[in-house]
Amino acid sequence: LCESSSSYLNDLNAAQLQAVQHPPQTPLQVLAGPGSGKTKVLTSRIAHLILHHHLPASSICAVTFTNKAANEMRHRLTMLIGKEKTSQVRMGTFHALCALFLRKYARSTGLDGNFTICDTEESKKIVAPLLKKYKDDLAAKDITLKEGTVLALISKAKAKGLSSRSYLREVQTRVHGPKNSDRLFPSSSTINDIDLVVAEIYDIYEKTLRKNNSLDFDDLLLFGVKLFTSNPDAVQWCQHVLVDEFQDTNVTQYDLMTAIASARCVTVVGDPDQSIYGWRSAEVGNLARMQKDFSSTEQIFLEENYRSTASILKISLAIVAQDKTRIQKSLHTSHPAGSLPVLKSFSSEQMEASFLAGEIKRIIAYMGGVFNWGDFVILLRFNALSRTIESALQKEGIPSRVLGGHKFFERVEIKDLLAYLQLVDNPQFGPAFMRAINTPTRGMGEKSVAELLARANASKLTLVELVEKIHSNRTPDVKPSVKRKIGSFISVVRVLKQMASDNAQPSDLIRRLVELIDYEGHLRKTQPDWESRWENVQELITFASDVQSDLQANPDFTEASGDTRDTPLRLFLQASMLTSEGDQQNKERDNEKVTLSTCHAAKGLEWPVVMIPAAEQGIFPFYRTDDIEEERRLLYVACTRAQSLLYLSYATQRKAAGETKARDLSPFVSSVIICQVLKRPQPDSVQVTEHITAYNKAIRSRFSDSGTYNGISSVQTQDTQFTVFTSAGSLSPYAPMATTSRQGWSSSPSFINPR
Ligand code: ATP
Ligand code: MG
Repeated sequence: LCESSSSYLNDLNAAQLQAVQHPPQTPLQVLAGPGSGKTKVLTSRIAHLILHHHLPASSICAVTFTNKAANEMRHRLTMLIGKEKTSQVRMGTFHALCALFLRKYARSTGLDGNFTICDTEESKKIVAPLLKKYKDDLAAKDITLKEGTVLALISKAKAKGLSSRSYLREVQTRVHGPKNSDRLFPSSSTINDIDLVVAEIYDIYEKTLRKNNSLDFDDLLLFGVKLFTSNPDAVQWCQHVLVDEFQDTNVTQYDLMTAIASARCVTVVGDPDQSIYGWRSAEVGNLARMQKDFSSTEQIFLEENYRSTASILKISLAIVAQDKTRIQKSLHTSHPAGSLPVLKSFSSEQMEASFLAGEIKRIIAYMGGVFNWGDFVILLRFNALSRTIESALQKEGIPSRVLGGHKFFERVEIKDLLAYLQLVDNPQFGPAFMRAINTPTRGMGEKSVAELLARANASKLTLVELVEKIHSNRTPDVKPSVKRKIGSFISVVRVLKQMASDNAQPSDLIRRLVELIDYEGHLRKTQPDWESRWENVQELITFASDVQSDLQANPDFTEASGDTRDTPLRLFLQASMLTSEGDQQNKERDNEKVTLSTCHAAKGLEWPVVMIPAAEQGIFPFYRTDDIEEERRLLYVACTRAQSLLYLSYATQRKAAGETKARDLSPFVSSVIICQVLKRPQPDSVQVTEHITAYNKAIRSRFSDSGTYNGISSVQTQDTQFTVFTSAGSLSPYAPMATTSRQGWSSSPSFINPR
């Protein structure tokens, strides 16, 4: 391909070029705002390391925040250096990379190569019985503690790299020290009790995971650190580490990066203004820490935004600029102003949803083939907001897909089938056993299952071996009824095991499995919406065959020597456990669908048209947040996904938890436009709440309630301009927009006006 030329350098600006050509041995940080080409720089730098510095592609580790971002990067890199070399680059999330290396070098960390990755639901199954033990104690002290909370606290400890033992030690010290104000705790007076309980559960939870030969998501990273600090073979595979979205790495991920980076070859790109994972223990301080730990780290700043129109960039910057603690940076664009961002209020969430659906149709209709469904994204603060919008889209016949929504691999029908496969691969994985033994219902009670688990634990047999033994009548003390129930289960497992050891393709295993247990019949009997669930089963088979063909295209590690062999089944299970939301969707079909996504999941991505509904107080910022500024940055991230058109909207009445409540515009938005509407100077922070209340009142009385005001007003502040549509209902038809292309750099600064 472009081996001899350096065409990948041609479309870079001077600062980007400097970053790409930066000497590989000197650690580099590229710090820059959204849309300034950080990810592009990272991709081009990989190309440069391979084509110019002749680093073997397989010695480069590129870390992305999601699998989707990895796919995107793989796609971009293929255009630069071709398919073959791209497939050799180790690319993926920290979790995926750890899983990849741990499979190979499991033994040096004391693991078996056939470990199973345990997801949150499975972890809950392990924690639930442990928590029961403390139930009475906790109840006596009036404390409610749920499995989810316990796991969240364990996960926090792991993100800081604390083992169960050091966590217990830390808790014990803390119990005697000043009180911690962690908001996860129900009330401060009970902190010590909860901490101690969690510390104890953490310890047993860890032991159970090891006994099950499984790792939870945090363990993947912790064992990864262990692997890379202790195994020179593994490190030798990574000569240069590149990390995207570095501002959202946590302490353990930082340790991992340091452990992998041999000879200080590290490139990271990030933007502190887009750090939105503090709630999951991300440490924006890692940027400063890296400067200290890698003393020769150099910084390069990019200042030109290539993604958005000038007016979208303006409003986005105005929103984030209200964070007074933030370090001011420069970010500009040479794109024209384009259409003004739109702000619109509605009287209910239904009105809002049907407007958005109608608007998408209108834009497509009036823009004569310029936009496709795939050019639209609706960004939500949290998933629950999608229901009303999904049904509005459906009603209008608009195809849509959910990114970061109901997670495919968390659906009952998917987990049921995966449980069998997990058990075939790892016969001692308890959570899978508990699920498979009663799928379809075999009438094995909770007690009998618990007894089997306890027996397996005591006997050192794997669960499957134990069940085999019982079935062949070598355990006289097991009730005949239990033996009978086990019979139908073990015969299925036997068939699958045989197929797997003959290296059958996972898609064939699933096909055979659904036949053996008559899964369609089971769904029909037990699920009212069995048809769509059966569809999902078909989708799982498709996913399995996609993984198979991906693997055939990129035979990873074939040249490596390690201590375990990857079977097709193992690789499939790993892909399904590490696939984040939406990744399993067919890529071609995605272009023909409107995307619904959480703001978090949209990080790093871009769309021509971005719509952000529910921009309301209590949602932006989320009412339960600990960190207002992180919420503001989240809105900033959401707005900066937009290339050509940006819509913000809110409903003055919205139903939540069955109750309809009055709503106000998000203070992040209103404080940007407030001064103009009320003809007041920029409020200082003390006055902000007061101003916002006044603003919302003014807006309501002037526009939405009376219905007498019917039109648009352009609201301008010192540095931003919005088009505020204040009439309720439909705005169509539009005059054709002055935009000429999908990128939509309109030369006219005005938005399409209603006729
Ligand atoms: P984010 O912070 O949102 O992740 P980013 O800094 O990673 O953004 P990219 O996604 O790399 O930005 O780039 C944003 C868009 O700008 C992409 O469509 C990219 O192709 C384009 N772009 C970046 N640099 C240039 C350039 N020098 N010339 C033309 N287009 C560019
Ligand atoms: Mg990026």
